[in-house]
Amino acid sequence: MQTTLTSLNANAAKFIATPRKMLINGQWVEAASGKRIETKNPATGEVITTVPEGGVEDINRAVAAARKAFEEGPWPKMKPNERGNLLLKFADLLEANAEEFSHLETLDNGAPLSITESFVSLSVDNLRYFAGWTTKITGETIPVSVPGNIFNYTRREPIGVIGGITPWNGPLYMAILKLSAPLATGNTVVLNPASLTPLTVLRLGELVQEAGFPDGVVNIVPGSGSIAGAALTEHPNVDKISFTGSTEVGKQIIRSSADNVKKVSLELGGKSAHIIFADADYETALQNAANAVFFNSGQACIAGSRLFVENKIYDKFMSDLAEYTKNFKLGNGFDQSTILGPLISEKQKNSVLGYVDIGLQEGAELLVGGNPTEAELANGYYVKPTVLANVSNDMTIAREEIFGPVVTGMPFNDIDKVIRLANQTEYGLGGGVCTTDIRKAHKVANAMRTGNVWINTYNLLDPASPYGGYKQSGLGRENGSAAIDMFTETKSIWVNLD
Ligand code: NAP
Ligand code: MG
Repeated sequence: MQTTLTSLNANAAKFIATPRKMLINGQWVEAASGKRIETKNPATGEVITTVPEGGVEDINRAVAAARKAFEEGPWPKMKPNERGNLLLKFADLLEANAEEFSHLETLDNGAPLSITESFVSLSVDNLRYFAGWTTKITGETIPVSVPGNIFNYTRREPIGVIGGITPWNGPLYMAILKLSAPLATGNTVVLNPASLTPLTVLRLGELVQEAGFPDGVVNIVPGSGSIAGAALTEHPNVDKISFTGSTEVGKQIIRSSADNVKKVSLELGGKSAHIIFADADYETALQNAANAVFFNSGQACIAGSRLFVENKIYDKFMSDLAEYTKNFKLGNGFDQSTILGPLISEKQKNSVLGYVDIGLQEGAELLVGGNPTEAELANGYYVKPTVLANVSNDMTIAREEIFGPVVTGMPFNDIDKVIRLANQTEYGLGGGVCTTDIRKAHKVANAMRTGNVWINTYNLLDPASPYGGYKQSGLGRENGSAAIDMFTETKSIWVNLD
């Protein structure tokens, strides 16, 4: 394949030239076991560098540091505006190094630069938004009706040590979500990033230090979820787990958090419905339908993977969608013309192609996509954007999260029926509706049992707007004031004034 790749940012090149360490109590250290893991470039399958493989002992050290920083360090005594200023400085540093971060992320997880650049900028916004919250976290004075002259008020207090566990599909932004609101509210954090994509999170650790957060406030321990992640979720000195990942692991985390009744917030999987009415603006609907599912090569928890199209336009819409999809260029994320990058791993690629096969066996019709045959794509983990028609909502491919560039098209002719079908899933994360009829739009939006609904658009996110899932898509909300609630305890204080 003849391509011109953007050359790697010099600081990113420097970062990967040295084997990285992990951050515990303000020190860059090796894993206690001395073990290291490789991280690969999914566009080529080549090893980029190695990072320490954190284990139980490293998690123990990191939790001890975070506990000490929470209870004794300068952190608990810091004024809200000082915490806010640190978060602002952190945001400025991230912005100043934006190109290095987007390049490291593209290298490590394969997403096109246009996507990793937008995640860096969303991350900067997120830090600034929560920096603003530090001085606005107030309690209430409550007019209680008990006898006597009693003054009752509430305080919002940090929860303590937060364990943050993140996936590989948006490594930097997901880590920022585990830092911004938790730190704004005065907690300390131990982060365990996905072992497939540790690089930007480790680089973030350097900015944490440069910004001047006290030692132990942020600790970063890469290492496998089943060992390091599990140790964090079981740890008696961790007060809360904030997790983004699969529903399956989310359930495991609830179980392993039970012993010390840890607080848990979970951002999990999805199988979002996208409903296109015949009266929609046709071109907008077509673009939305494609972008909703193919963004980040379908590796998005909110992917609009179940596409419901009104009968009247179904055949034409599906064939136009297939045509439109052919224009999405698959390739290396450093190629400016790439729209879809590779999937994260060989395993993920095989899993997605396995679902396409299952769909075909179940009777779905392949309109476009499937396995790339071009020899030049052979070393990367590529899957062509795939459009399947003739699908019904009870097929495996319409029930299970595929987490790849695969959309399943289903016709409908009745608004109540399509609402029922849209909600016929164990998930409840995202949903979309395209129509020019404001009544239909709101009827569908209100009826969807999901945490996010987009009308005549899709995939929009903002630090000020709450984000999370109904049903098995999660517990709690990130972003907005909801995140402040999620990372604070409320204390009620009673004063006898007699
Ligand atoms: P995953 O397998 O659940 O892994 C997520 C993280 O959990 C990784 O860091 C993983 O570690 C770790 N982990 C694995 N087993 C664990 C255990 N027993 N205890 C503690 N941690 C453990 O998910 P994924 O495949 O990386 O990510 C894709 C999933 O995330 C999809 O289902 C997607 O929908 C969901 N997601 C949801 C959102 C949202 O906001 N709702 C956003 C993005 C992704 P290692 O992989 O390093 O071993
Ligand atoms: Mg990688």
